Amino acid sequence: MKVIIADSINEKGISDLKEVAEVTVATSITPEELVEVIKEYDAIVVRSRTKVTREVIEAGSKLKVIARAGVGVDNVDVQAATEKGIMVINAPESTSITVAEHSMGLMMSLARKISIADKSVKSGQWEKSKFMGIELNNKTLGIVGMGRIGSQVVIRAKAFNMEILVYDPYISKEAGAEMGVSVVDLETLLKESDVITIHVPLTPETRHLISTREMEIMKNTAFIINCARGGIVDEDALYYALKNDIIGGAALDVFESEPPQESPLLELDNLLATPHIGASTAEAQRDAALIVANEIITVFQG
Ligand code: NAD
Repeated sequence: MKVIIADSINEKGISDLKEVAEVTVATSITPEELVEVIKEYDAIVVRSRTKVTREVIEAGSKLKVIARAGVGVDNVDVQAATEKGIMVINAPESTSITVAEHSMGLMMSLARKISIADKSVKSGQWEKSKFMGIELNNKTLGIVGMGRIGSQVVIRAKAFNMEILVYDPYISKEAGAEMGVSVVDLETLLKESDVITIHVPLTPETRHLISTREMEIMKNTAFIINCARGGIVDEDALYYALKNDIIGGAALDVFESEPPQESPLLELDNLLATPHIGASTAEAQRDAALIVANEIITVFQG
């Protein structure tokens, strides 16, 4: 069996694969070169850089597995793979804790204005009174989507003594009660939360789930955090709401267009931005590589 690793992944994942297959690491391969060589391989491993297009899949006459060492398969033409009976695998559970921790980090940074205070001190200022914050203790956290990541946020927010509301049409009130959260409708969550954090996939149903009307319902001190996908929060509506103090602040790890070069949001002090690094920890990347390596090995061993 031959495996091509087209994007850099954790070394342990590579060494595990080497025990059962001939492995080629080609992390700077171009799209044209990939189309040329893919016919020799039984499996390909990618992260985000390499696009496994229909052209690549059709040229992969021996291809049995396409593995994405991460969450989601946005860079794989799943339709083309399915037509050829090629298995597409990923590791959605590998990054849940990492993304939940990033969300908590953004929440604390918003509550205590850490990122703008940092900018201020480094510019030679000492503006103590400008950075009065709030405690998270006893505040209400609204979690939109309580799947793998949302559930990890629940565990961490409880340690901060926050009251937790969840909006997730696929979670029953009973299942919520078992986790110690109240499952409510979106309107209640928007109205009552001090911080709202989004953990749903981007679908036609969730595109602009949080827009002008929703921000108007929120408390004018509330924070909104999006570590899920750009487009779930309507960025034009968010800009208006932040600029006009309709809500208190926001933190975005993901944007409608990445990078968000021309976005006026980036000029606002009450907007905290990170460059889609929600899943970027050594542990999450290691786990993603180990999980997909293990799945490829299972497929090869029948
Ligand atoms: P998951 O599938 O485990 O959970 C998603 C939850 O959303 C489910 O409980 C589902 O019932 C709920 N849901 C679906 N549609 C909904 C709707 N219309 N309204 C309310 N709830 C709805 O997914 P996950 O692993 O927790 O990931 C959540 C999101 O985080 C995904 O969009 C994923 O792409 C994103 N993510 C981002 C990063 C990053 O780098 N920032 C990394 C990993 C994952």
